Amino acid sequence: MAKGEIFMSIGPTKFALQELKMKMPDGREITLWFDGSGKVTRDNGTFDEPVANAFSLVQVVDCPFATPTCRSICYVHILEANEREVHDKYILNSRTIRVILSNSLYIMATANAFAKYVNENCRGGFRWHVSGDIFSWIYACFIRLICLETPNVRHWIYTRSYDYVAPLVGLPNLVVNLSADKDNLSRAIVTAYRFGLRICYLTVDGLVPDDLPAGSVIFPNHSLRGRELPRPTDAPWWQSITPEQRRMVCPADFFGQSPNIRCGPCRKCLK
Ligand code: SF4
Repeated sequence: MAKGEIFMSIGPTKFALQELKMKMPDGREITLWFDGSGKVTRDNGTFDEPVANAFSLVQVVDCPFATPTCRSICYVHILEANEREVHDKYILNSRTIRVILSNSLYIMATANAFAKYVNENCRGGFRWHVSGDIFSWIYACFIRLICLETPNVRHWIYTRSYDYVAPLVGLPNLVVNLSADKDNLSRAIVTAYRFGLRICYLTVDGLVPDDLPAGSVIFPNHSLRGRELPRPTDAPWWQSITPEQRRMVCPADFFGQSPNIRCGPCRKCLK
């Protein structure tokens, strides 16, 4: 475990935090925080001892294209209430990344230190934004820069910021997933076909569109999941969808997370 790493848990989910202290060319000290969890750690750690392999911001505040649907049920609201220490780091990152992006010398110094951390600690995969989204074009270019400087690391991202995805398309080590729901589906489909990207569809009311492109992933809201039932597949929502749609469902969300049901063993969003 790297020095300074912190573990916490909400139910079965364990979290990790790791700070990155950097000195800017003018001598200013700046700190960013990496986070992680048993669900997303992939091969960097284990379900019970995750490594911080993500960079996150603040939910909704840093999501310029958040929809009424995703705003209303965002899972980070629960994390904010239960794990203040993790969420406080998202707030710090949100402020600090804007300071960095306002100064080209800071951007280059940060990119070098950020990429060094990813190359040394996240060879098993790097997740952008357990919380938050791409909030500007220049931030999209920063993400592109990190991917270019870490060519042996597989990155993945979910975004509703379709207007900012162009700098991220075509990178061989970044998988871009378009987050969608009933409020933005038509824009998601246009963007998916334009750039050849996957749609990750959130359903809150249980309805799933018939025209989701092949390869899409379905994320059911809490009330639709079967993880609390003796037989999860008895859940009324599961019974209401087609066999093809069942194969598209995120197993970690529907069945619950475990060492074998998480990102990594499941590759629906990662290829
Ligand atoms: S579908 Fe698989 S890869 Fe995607 S979020 Fe769920 S567990 Fe992770």
